[in-house]
Amino acid sequence: MTRQIVGPEQLDMESPGRRDYWVALGHTSVWGSHLIPLTVIVGPQANPGEGLVAFGANHGNEYEGPVAIKHLLRQIRIEEVLGRIVLVPVLNVAAFRVGARESTGDDGFNLNRVFVEGAGTTPAMAGITHRIAAFVRQSIWPHVHIVIDLHSGGEVARFAHWVGFFTCAASELNQRREQMARWFGVPVVTAGPNGPPGGILGGLHGDADHHGKYAIGTELGHGSSVDVRGVRYARQGVLAAAIHHGLLKGKIEPIAHHADGTQRLVRIGASVAAPYPGHYEPLVDCGERVVRGQTVGLLHDFYRLDEDPFEVVAAVAGIVVSQAWGARVAQGQMIMMVAEEIG
Ligand SMILES: [Zn+2]
Repeated sequence: MTRQIVGPEQLDMESPGRRDYWVALGHTSVWGSHLIPLTVIVGPQANPGEGLVAFGANHGNEYEGPVAIKHLLRQIRIEEVLGRIVLVPVLNVAAFRVGARESTGDDGFNLNRVFVEGAGTTPAMAGITHRIAAFVRQSIWPHVHIVIDLHSGGEVARFAHWVGFFTCAASELNQRREQMARWFGVPVVTAGPNGPPGGILGGLHGDADHHGKYAIGTELGHGSSVDVRGVRYARQGVLAAAIHHGLLKGKIEPIAHHADGTQRLVRIGASVAAPYPGHYEPLVDCGERVVRGQTVGLLHDFYRLDEDPFEVVAAVAGIVVSQAWGARVAQGQMIMMVAEEIG
């Protein structure tokens, strides 16, 4: 199999068949390009403007998505594809190359914060990270209606494995997103509006929502490792979304927490920010149920060794869905999130 190097304007997202590309975006330093892997498979029933895209490595140190999509590149057979499937195992190649959350070897930006107005199209925002965002908007959004953004916690946070969606005014859209999320088989499905506090400005997921896509995002592991269950959930979730939207032939059975009825739908909300820099000690694991007022973790200040630690308390009863991963945390960093069960 030859993987062809092309510019974004040379991508063929329409003709029936399979094409494996390296998409070249000009390098800002050396004479050459950043090469983003993209495979597009177009089946006989593909409709213009419709398809599924799955992204890995929006952040460069989150590995379940890249590993799962790399497997799917071999697993999905062209004879079984009916519609359009676009697989991007590594989106932020600049960050992935250095194994970092941000593009630290290049312009230093976090790709998941640069989906802002003018990204990649104005001279002040012309570095590689902004141009990856522009590439997604110009070359991928017009051809897909389903967007799966596969994240994990990297070195920022640990998570109960979750798949989430942002709720909007259209209930049909919410239901579709919820079903897509449930089919991953994860223990926790999160729902909630995308907005402050806790909202992400300039995120890929929010940009997809803004363009009316059926978009979902995941947190499938943490610690810059490859999580056994995380990879399994990711492979299942992408395949299920493709099959259920008529893009791929075949049948698929529910797995794990989706199959055995232990999956929980929760409302994202009650997070605690570190009031000062310190060292975080979790007292429960992510995924555990807690009661309102329960102390979930402690923030220690080793420069005030003889003072009591700050108690990180659950503001609502629910499931602990996220906590700081590294012990050292910065002031203002989200160190614990508890989510109310709604279904
Ligand atoms: Zn991420």
